[in-house]
Amino acid sequence: MPNMSDVIFPDVTLTPDEITQRYPQRCLPEGAQVTRFAPSPTGFLHIGGLFTAMINYRLAKKTGGVFFIRIEDTDKKREVEGGIELITKGLEDFGIIADEGFTSTGQKGGYGPYQQSQRRDIYRVFAKKLMDEGKAYPCFMTEGELEEIRAEQEKNKQNPGIYGQYAKYRGITPDEAQKLIDEGRSFVVRLRSCGDESRRIKFKDSIRGKIEMPENIQDTVILKADGIPTYHFAHVIDDHLMGTTTVIRGDEWISSVPIHLQMFYMLGFKAPNYAHVAPIMKEENGGKRKLSKRKDPEAAVSFYREAGYPMQSVSEYLMTIASSAYEDFRRANPRADVGEFNFELRKMSQSGALFDLNKLNDVSKNTISRMTADTVYDLAADWAKEYDAGLYSLLSRDEGYSKGIFAIDRDNPKPRKDIAKWSEVRDYVAFMFDELFLRPSAELLAKYDAADAKAVLAAYAGVYDQNDSKDEWFERMKTVCDTLGFARETKAYKQSPESYKGHIGDVSTIIRAAVTGRTNTPDLYYIEQLLGYERVVGRIKEFAESL
Ligand code: GLU
Repeated sequence: MPNMSDVIFPDVTLTPDEITQRYPQRCLPEGAQVTRFAPSPTGFLHIGGLFTAMINYRLAKKTGGVFFIRIEDTDKKREVEGGIELITKGLEDFGIIADEGFTSTGQKGGYGPYQQSQRRDIYRVFAKKLMDEGKAYPCFMTEGELEEIRAEQEKNKQNPGIYGQYAKYRGITPDEAQKLIDEGRSFVVRLRSCGDESRRIKFKDSIRGKIEMPENIQDTVILKADGIPTYHFAHVIDDHLMGTTTVIRGDEWISSVPIHLQMFYMLGFKAPNYAHVAPIMKEENGGKRKLSKRKDPEAAVSFYREAGYPMQSVSEYLMTIASSAYEDFRRANPRADVGEFNFELRKMSQSGALFDLNKLNDVSKNTISRMTADTVYDLAADWAKEYDAGLYSLLSRDEGYSKGIFAIDRDNPKPRKDIAKWSEVRDYVAFMFDELFLRPSAELLAKYDAADAKAVLAAYAGVYDQNDSKDEWFERMKTVCDTLGFARETKAYKQSPESYKGHIGDVSTIIRAAVTGRTNTPDLYYIEQLLGYERVVGRIKEFAESL
């Protein structure tokens, strides 16, 4: 009688040992973690994918390990053109660059190939091994038969699937298999599960802690009819050979852990640690639901780029979701590299974190406030080049001038936090460009007497000197106070308000309104320095006339 594996795998000539030799044990320092992100190239990069990739990346970096990207393309129907670049480039924009596997410029590393469609032969070698050991068998069940079983199980209120009495082909002989193959029948390869329903498997999830589940009793498919592995089998073979130490993935896979642990066991492999990441949720009608690719624009990573959030802000925000200790770390170390944060899986939230755009805005304002003026300029101009050509042409007309705008109130212990995203830059810089400057309306100074405001503006225009130092400049404003009956110190005004028309704060507000069209701006001295004498005095006179 022929051997079953010769009937099913006549094409397989390599042995498991030969394959294993291609994947030597990694030489890494004690405690180093090998992690991976394993996307299917089915479309855009999802924020949840970015989140999972980031956690994998951080853990590998923190422990001096390896982070690799493996492309899981066993389902060719769902694949989209350019899907791999979309993901690798997308991640690289966020600083997540694979040590091994796929990068935007191709594959690298000694544990590949890192694309499942290129590993077909490898899976077949191990499927054959299982069959040789009686741990796998070909199953010729037709769609019709499977459907009948489903219906019967539903009627009997039994668990669905192929197990026990439903595993019809468990006892098939090689001759019977050969005959069916000769008849042109297609087949899948199923694991001959060694599980027992009454026994439970226990494992420690690095995020969720101890978990117990019944053993897997299903004769799970390992190779599909086209000879391609299922996710389960490919995961086990790949992560074993590639030396993954911790599998960090979405928690939709948690219920499959019993299948995976059983496969590791039946293959004689050591199982990796698992860490299942809760999805990012969205609040809706008082409830919570998963962010949806179809319904929520913010699910796509491209949304943030278009809206003008710097990648650094999105990363920072995701870190605050990943660890409740991150915000304290950031407060204490405003300029530290994220790599200095002691990221720990066990401190991650077990239930899905809520995605909160307001929070993202806050985090982003802080993040941008810590950037240098040059960086702000570069990033804002980059964004504008793609999404706001008018703004781009203004910003790039005189780079030094634009950088000067972003430098105002920046390099100090309490930088301003005006900008959350680059789409807000147009408004932020508007009064620095005549093309965007909106002439102030008298309304802005409604609480002041028009004659007083006019007098302040006239006096200031008369004494304004572009060459003043900041102290001289301030002193000059105070002399305007003295001449016109305003208090040069707020304190003096507060002590006897009836003796004054107002105080230095009022005078500066009137001037600020004329020069910028606003009552709240960054440091007026530097604004005026950049605008230059003509524009400062021109705007003041124009406004005074309109009052
Ligand atoms: N290709 C799987 C997915 O996209 C990967 C899961 C895993 O990381 O193992 O869900």
